[in-house]
Parts: sequence; structure tokens; C-alpha cells
Amino acid sequence: MWWIHTLTLLAFLPLIPHTKHLHLILSPLTIFLKRDTFSQIPPLAGDEDFGLVSGKDISRITALQAYSCVECGRCTEHCPANNTGKELNPKLIALGVRDYLNEYGPENETPLLAATVSQTAVFQCTTCGACEYQCPVGIQHLPIMIGLRRGAVNTGGWENDHGTKLFLNLERNGNAMGFSQSERDKFINKQQFPIFDGSQEYCLWMGCMGSYDPRGREIIVAFASVMQYLGSTYGVLKKERCTGDPARRLGNDLVFGQLAETNLQTLAQTGAKKIVSICPHCVRTMAEDWREFGATVEIEHHSEFLARHADRIPQNHKNGNTVFHDPCYLGRYRGVYDEPREVIARAGNLVDPPRARERSFCCGAGGGLVFLGEETGQRVSDARVKELVATGADAIAAACPFCNTMFRDALSAGPADAPKLLDIAQIVARQIEDVAVPLGERGPVRTETSSQDDRR
Ligand code: SF4
Ligand code: SF4
Repeated sequence: MWWIHTLTLLAFLPLIPHTKHLHLILSPLTIFLKRDTFSQIPPLAGDEDFGLVSGKDISRITALQAYSCVECGRCTEHCPANNTGKELNPKLIALGVRDYLNEYGPENETPLLAATVSQTAVFQCTTCGACEYQCPVGIQHLPIMIGLRRGAVNTGGWENDHGTKLFLNLERNGNAMGFSQSERDKFINKQQFPIFDGSQEYCLWMGCMGSYDPRGREIIVAFASVMQYLGSTYGVLKKERCTGDPARRLGNDLVFGQLAETNLQTLAQTGAKKIVSICPHCVRTMAEDWREFGATVEIEHHSEFLARHADRIPQNHKNGNTVFHDPCYLGRYRGVYDEPREVIARAGNLVDPPRARERSFCCGAGGGLVFLGEETGQRVSDARVKELVATGADAIAAACPFCNTMFRDALSAGPADAPKLLDIAQIVARQIEDVAVPLGERGPVRTETSSQDDRR
């Protein structure tokens, strides 16, 4: 019997490269050769590189990945855009590149977005990374997706009023919402946030949301009060700009580069070494994307900071059952899952929704989409909130100001007895409210180093 199998196999072997079963040979190679970091966006090669425009821009690794697709559909099954009735289907993005190569060849100058890939679909991606995470053969959808967006933006093929306004806001005002910097100054003065001058332990990165958005401001105020309670000294930057995250994810490298370089100059001038942020998008962009400019920025998310100090956060179960939503840029992008849970468990009974941790379902804001107006189909945030509310929890805990703002809108349309929505910083701030001692009576400010010493 075995020799019948062997003969059949030998007879079919020469046919494999000419069929869709080519992936049998290619997929092990793809897994071996895939880029190291999750969603790593390769830098543009120079002024003549406009991104993934046509066949001549398809790199070998992208071609290899496109031919390795086993068409299992796992990427699509987990895609929040596809799950909510949008055109985007990540499997068809990979297969679109393959079809292009088969039909037009690698040196062709016909734009991919005019041939085998839909531009509308490409700009529906929240960059949540679920597809890339799920793919069994290591296909990296995000560099393809961002490459295609770069191509569309740099060749003027993407016409979107919201997108144009966003890029202008970032260029002119240094923030995604288009507010004047003086609005941020007023907020800092009102809150009496110290300005970072190199003498404090932490630079508290406020981000666009923490600087201008009312809900984001509540989170930053809560977190600042917690830092103060814990005795960690901090200061905020006077001239902070957007990290460039939405420009980067939407394919505008020019604006992204300008913002990154301006911020890096500011950080160098102030001598900030340790940075902490309430926004996983800021953390990702500064820690990874800014490397393109030779920067290594030591930054952490506030969940990591809070978890490190968890033993000093008062414990009670004030919040009852609390369901935690893993933000894509904290979980899949940074691998931080346990830290926010550790913090939440100090204040309530932690509950996980059906899709949690690596399988978390996006809030719909990422990839710059929060700034692009209404979605087609069901709103991703509505789908996610429904799932979170269905757990029956008393509170929803978030750890990203974008998730927070998306869920706030989704919950506002729901019943009056909907669970309360809190960022983990707000949860901790409520925990310490009862035990907080007025500043003047608190004794000397302790640094993190001294508080760690105390615990030894
Ligand atoms: S990154 Fe998320 S939204 Fe974009 S295609 Fe992949 S799964 Fe869909
Ligand atoms: S998960 Fe990977 S192999 Fe499966 S269909 Fe999607 S891209 Fe292809």
C-alpha cells in the first residue's frame, strides 16, 4: 500500500508549483522569513519610494507571503471590519496581491488598487492586527495594508475630506483634533501639572486625547493624581505634539516624520528619559515607529506602571464585576495582558468577555479610523460593546483613551442601566480617594526607586 502512496506523491510533485498547492512548499519558508516584529512597517527607501503602488513595488517577502496563503479564512473570521459588514476581507488582500502577480507580473506599473485590490477596503482597516495574529502561515497583512495606503496617499489617489482635514490638523496644530496649542496650555495650568524640567522621574506623555478630549482629560487627571499618591514625580512637556500615529497608519509618512522629529528634538532638549503614557497607540508609535529616526525611547503604558505599584493600591471590591477590554495596541501589539487585569482585580471581580487577550475584538478606532467619520455597516464599537455588556458586568474597564471614547458613544445609545465605563487610571483613582491624604500632610515625595527599596 505504501508504494501506491509514494508513487502517487511522486507523480503529483512536479505539478505542485503550478497549482494553488504551491503554499505547501512556500509556507514553511514564509514562517521562517517573516519580519521579526508584529506589524513591522518597513521604512520607505527614499524620495522615489511612494509605497506599494504597483507590481514593481511588491517586495520578495510580500510576494512570498501572497503565494503562501492557504485560503483558510482565519484572518477574515477574526477581522472586525469584515464582521461588521464592511467590504474589507484580509484574505482577499493577500490573494489580491497574488492575483496581481499572476495577471500583471512583478514589473508591471498598473496600480494594484486599480487592478486586484479595493482601495475602499484598504481604508476600512483598523490595523487591529487580528488577521496577522491569526494567520497560520505567517502572512503579515499590516505592512501590505499600510504599504497600499502609502501608495494611495503619496500618489494622490486617496481623496477623503476627513483624511485631508486630519493631515492638515496634524501639520498646522500638531494634534489630530485641530485645537490650538493654547487650549492645552490652559488645561495644564488649570490642573497645575508640573512642567517636565529634567528633575522629575517621569515625563507624563499626555497625547492628543489626554490634552484635548474631555474624556481623555479625565483619564490623564486621574492618572496624575495616582502618580502623586504613589509619590512618583512627573512633569508634562510644554511643547508636546501628536506622536504621528494616525498619519503613520493612514500612510502619510511625511506628516508622521515631521511630528516624530519635532517631538524627538523636544525630548532631547528636556532630557526626558522615562516616559509613561495612558495611550497604547502613543506607546507603540514612540517605542517602535520612531526607531526609524534612530530613536530608542523608554516608554511604558500606564497599566505597566500601575501593575508595578499594585501592592500599594488599596484593595476593595467597589466596582463589582468588571469586564476588561484588551486594547489591540496594548495586547497584540505589546503583549501586555496581565498588568491591567492585576490592577482591575484590586477594585472588583475581573471578568473576561468571550473574545479576550490575543483574540480581543477591536473598538474600531485604530488605524486613524476614529478621525474618518461614519463607518459603513454596523459600527465596530457597537458590536464590541454589545459583547461586553452581555457579560452582565457592573463596569467596563478600558485602558486606552480611543477605546474609551468609542465605547462611550456606543453606550450612550444603550439603556440607562448600562455598566459604567472606566479607564484603569480612574479605577485606581477611585480606590485611593478614600485613603488619600492631603498633599501638605503627606510627607516627602518618594521616588519609584525608594518605593521599590521599601518593599525589599
Ligand atoms: S488589521 Fe484588523 S481590521 Fe485590518 S484587516 Fe486585519 S483584522 Fe481586519
Ligand atoms: S489566515 Fe493567512 S493563510 Fe489563512 S486566508 Fe488569511 S492570509 Fe491566507
